[in-house]
Parts: sequence; structure tokens; C-alpha cells
Amino acid sequence: MARMYVQIEPLLVEVDGPLAVNTGFRRGLINRTVERDAQGLAYIPASSLKGRVRRACEQVARQVGLRVCRAPRPSGMCSAHTQQPCLVCRVFGSPGRGSGLRWQDARLVLDYQKVFAGDEGNRQAQFYTRTQVQLSRTLGIAAHDHLFTSEFAIENLRFESAIAGWLDITPVADEDATGGYELLLLLAGLRLVNTMGSSGSRGAGHCVIYLPEQVTVGQRSISVAEIFEFMSLLSEFDQEVRDGA
Ligand SMILES: [Zn+2]
Repeated sequence: MARMYVQIEPLLVEVDGPLAVNTGFRRGLINRTVERDAQGLAYIPASSLKGRVRRACEQVARQVGLRVCRAPRPSGMCSAHTQQPCLVCRVFGSPGRGSGLRWQDARLVLDYQKVFAGDEGNRQAQFYTRTQVQLSRTLGIAAHDHLFTSEFAIENLRFESAIAGWLDITPVADEDATGGYELLLLLAGLRLVNTMGSSGSRGAGHCVIYLPEQVTVGQRSISVAEIFEFMSLLSEFDQEVRDGA
């Protein structure tokens, strides 16, 4: 196992459906508001992005038959005492054992920032609200309290993020220059993500994450296509760890 510096940059997140990133805050009559940065521009917090990609990586790992712990409840997850944490926890960390990777907030790409920056009217153009009625099944009446207004970011926004930091790498086919099983899983999860945002049942924003062509592993730059050539070996991870233990 080797600890290596990896960098995935830029990560372009293109959202082509309505995006609601739940802040848990209420503004006036609006139940959910989209996250805004200091300039009033919409963004996707690193924690939301990371959480979404983690779920995608869990999906990938399960699909190939790897052992995956039960996130997000800490009691079901690998912990600081787990001798061999699952591959997902090795990339994303687990309770008591952080990850050396740093995720950046996904900010609007510069061209979009220019469109929406400036006056309040421009800033407001990023958002719209939608009101729905929530009927109580027992009462069956629509009262004022049952009006539920959600805020969304407009469609076709492009955000840019990056992931960089230290990753403990388990070599694939005795080769750690490609970032091992850990980077392979992370890239596969990023490629799989197709929705973003918290408003799942109401149609979270459909999105695509575009990977860069090259990523940095240690001192080298390596093509993502080259890393994906090892995809069929991902299922070997658990066996590899058992053999190495
Ligand atoms: Zn785990």
C-alpha cells in the first residue's frame, strides 16, 4: 500500500434539470432554498457533492460484488477500529477515520458567474420557485399551511469542482501508478452520478459529471481512459486485501 497525492481537476458538473440543494433554511414562505455563496451565486456544497458521489461508488462496488458497509448510519459503517475498511470507506473515510481527499465546492463556471453577477435582478435569474399542495389524506382539504413552495436553480447550469489530496492506494495488478482500486472506484462513481440535489422524489436535477482527460497520481499525469482499462479488475479488491493481510 502506498500513500499518494491525487488530483482530479477540473470536475465539470452540468445540471440539466431543476436543481434543489437543500440548505434546511427557510426564507419567507419558501421551504427550501438553494445554496448561495458570498456573491449570491448558486453553488453545490462539497459535502452534497461528496455524499452523492459516495452513494454512486457504493452502487458500483455492490454491482461488482464487493463488500460495502451500511452508510450513512455510523453504527452500520466501518469505524476507526475496523481492520480492513471497505473500499468505499477507504476513499471517503468513515466515522473516526477521515479521508485525506479534499473536495471543493462546485462553483458556477466563470462564464456563468459573469452572467449572474452584478445586480440583484441578474442574481435572481438563477432561481425560480414552484408551489405544490400537500393534502392531508385524512382531512382532504387544502389549507394555507399545506402550500409548499420550493426553490430551484434554473436548468442548464454548469459548475466546476475539484478533488485533491492523499489517498492510501491498493495497487491494481501490482501497479500503483494508476491510483489503485481506490482511484478506480472514485472515478467510476463520478462517471455514474446522474442526479444532483436533495429533492429526490420531486425530481432532483438530472446532471452529468465530466471527468478531466488526465488526472494526477503522485508525480505523474495519467489518462483517465488508461485507469478505466482496469475496470474489470475492480471486483478483485476484497480478495486482494485478504491475500495481502
Ligand atoms: Zn465501509
